[in-house]
Amino acid sequence: MKVNELNTWLLQVSTALILMSIGAQSVSAKEFLVSTVSEFDAAVEKLEPGDGIVMANGEWRDVELVFTGKGTADKDISLTVQTPGEVLITGKSNLSMAGEYLLVSGLVFKNGYTPTSAVISYRITPEHVANNSRVTQVVIDNFSNPERYETDYWVAMYGKNNRFDHNHLQGKNNKGVTLAVRLDSDLSRENHHSIDHNYFGPREVLGSNGGETLRVGTSHYSLSNSFTRIQNNVFDRCDGELEIISIKSGSNIIEGNVFLSSRGTLTLRHGNDNLVQNNVFFGGSVPHTGGIRVINKRQTIHNNYMEALAGYRFGGALVVMNGVPNSPINRYHQVDGARITNNSIINSPHIQLAAGSDEERSAVPVNSHFENNLVYITPEKNVFTLYDDVTGITFKDNLSNSQQNISGFSVKDLVLQKTDSNILFPKQLTKNVGFDPQTPVVSINEVGVDWYEKSKAQSKFEIQRRIKVDSESELVGAINSAQDGDEIHLSPGSYRLEKILDVKKSLSVVGAGDVIISYERPTLFVIHDGGSLRLSGLTINGKNAPDNVGNSVIRTSPYSMLKNYELVIENTKIIDLDVNRHFNVLNVAKSTMADSITLKQVLITNVSGAVLKLNKETDDYGIFNADFVTIEDSTFNKIQGAVVELYRGGTDESTFGPHFAVSNSAFTEVGRGRKNASKAALHLHGVQHTMIVHNRFENSAPIVIDHTVGEPVTHITKNSFVDSAAPVISELFSTSGSTANISDNKYN
Ligand code: CA
Repeated sequence: MKVNELNTWLLQVSTALILMSIGAQSVSAKEFLVSTVSEFDAAVEKLEPGDGIVMANGEWRDVELVFTGKGTADKDISLTVQTPGEVLITGKSNLSMAGEYLLVSGLVFKNGYTPTSAVISYRITPEHVANNSRVTQVVIDNFSNPERYETDYWVAMYGKNNRFDHNHLQGKNNKGVTLAVRLDSDLSRENHHSIDHNYFGPREVLGSNGGETLRVGTSHYSLSNSFTRIQNNVFDRCDGELEIISIKSGSNIIEGNVFLSSRGTLTLRHGNDNLVQNNVFFGGSVPHTGGIRVINKRQTIHNNYMEALAGYRFGGALVVMNGVPNSPINRYHQVDGARITNNSIINSPHIQLAAGSDEERSAVPVNSHFENNLVYITPEKNVFTLYDDVTGITFKDNLSNSQQNISGFSVKDLVLQKTDSNILFPKQLTKNVGFDPQTPVVSINEVGVDWYEKSKAQSKFEIQRRIKVDSESELVGAINSAQDGDEIHLSPGSYRLEKILDVKKSLSVVGAGDVIISYERPTLFVIHDGGSLRLSGLTINGKNAPDNVGNSVIRTSPYSMLKNYELVIENTKIIDLDVNRHFNVLNVAKSTMADSITLKQVLITNVSGAVLKLNKETDDYGIFNADFVTIEDSTFNKIQGAVVELYRGGTDESTFGPHFAVSNSAFTEVGRGRKNASKAALHLHGVQHTMIVHNRFENSAPIVIDHTVGEPVTHITKNSFVDSAAPVISELFSTSGSTANISDNKYN
């Protein structure tokens, strides 16, 4: 045969073989349609390569699915559904899988949580893991343990050569990593997993460590290689904690991912030889949006794009840490041999080098390169903070529009233009500097599943319906049947409530004219899980409350709350909360978290307790009850307790909050009640960011601030203190003096 004839013959033979094998598969492959767990279990026993289980449409409640089998590279064993999106796994349920060449797709986990440590586990027992297996087109939506600080994973990857792709995960509100790659035995190291094209939807601020969206490894095995590839995923508002992605192992590739308005950073926390390239961060100037944090040896940070990242300190756009000399495995290893090249850092004001430098973290970065990067910012400014000696980093061929306090930059007037993927790049020819605008950027439509809607951004009090009420019973009815975005308008008059108002949605209660509310129960409002409350234009009087210790106007559910709430009180008077001791305006329970509490133009008079009592996390685990507390243009008279008690105890550094700001407000006779344990007008413990500006304190107890860890930012300026003691700041852990700025205040 001639060569051509031989090729033709080979083609015919191979085609025939392929057809035979397809024929063979269609004859032997079996599909088992199952409607119950016992049918499922019976089918699992029979599975041969090429076979599949099909779960019948409907709700599967309280099911623990154990999927095992031995497929082959050509013939996997599948677990699928009749119709994607119509098999709902609810209640106390999970899926564990082990074996070879398994394929899972189409499931939706919602309205429940796992009774074990994972919703989806790539192993059944420590010895029986899944390899060469894939989970795709699966949704896990708000499938969170109702105990906020009970820990679990949504996805735990074990074994080798597994894939997790095109899935949709959002709303993990309890503690624990959303997706963890585990390296805890030889069966799972050097795993070559792929995590790609997933939609990681919103994850709220947890207010504790353990809010990572993705983690690869743990410190214990961090010197092992993982070879995990994290590629083309979208992280949308993944705010859980300081680390969006926590890499704690070696030789991973993090490539082509997009981060949208996500607080925190991609952190190379432990392990060496990781490659971070072609990723895009759009911060939208949201507080604490960050980029990449570099620790350890031989990390490569190449061709990444960071825009409008507002974060600072460990949460900056680019952070190179100092290490601990001879670091134990769980502390900070020195940065050695980092290559930071061709990144664009646009309108992001904080690049932090030798960050975390202190007595312990004294090992500066060495043998490292910062080259061909573009730094652009308007208005022009320096964006570098050098916390220590950075001569171990070579700066070369970088470009900026602004003067930077570092060598190796040329400064030019630059005009930017935008690609179709919203990437800004200089119009001028800037060969080989910054992010390559040709780099493909994954779009949100290319990730997740197309039959499940992605989460939209909406502010909690955006008005959807206006409801007018004229009486107490109408008010109770309107609140009980409320939908998110309701604004309930009270007609002018006096209302005396016999029932507690249970807030389970995001709603506003607004006085249309002179509205006076009193109440006969120990509280007027309870904010339940999923509720948020805005009060506007009301007068609330405590005079008809029962003669009990510890009444309030608003309290949270006494139980753990998964969803963060918001509280706004504006243009409102609150008076005579003094029928008995410890009558507070707001009292919260442990394991509850406010995203924000805002008081604006409020007048609060005669209170036997505190105004905002946010001090229930007393275990000192770094947990707290409110992230942003803001008071503006308000007046507080005769408050026996503190106006604010805000507490975050312990030494954990995984969170950005709490934040506190008060401005243009007057405090008279505040905090001097005999029962006020803190003896303070404002008591802030472990708060990370404090602004107390332009207020008047008269005949009041002092401001008491306890600084703990995290280089807290505290400004107390332009206040006047009349017959009131000066602020008292204590440093509980720092050895390097106070970081507080107390200046330009008047005392008399
Ligand atoms: Ca963490």
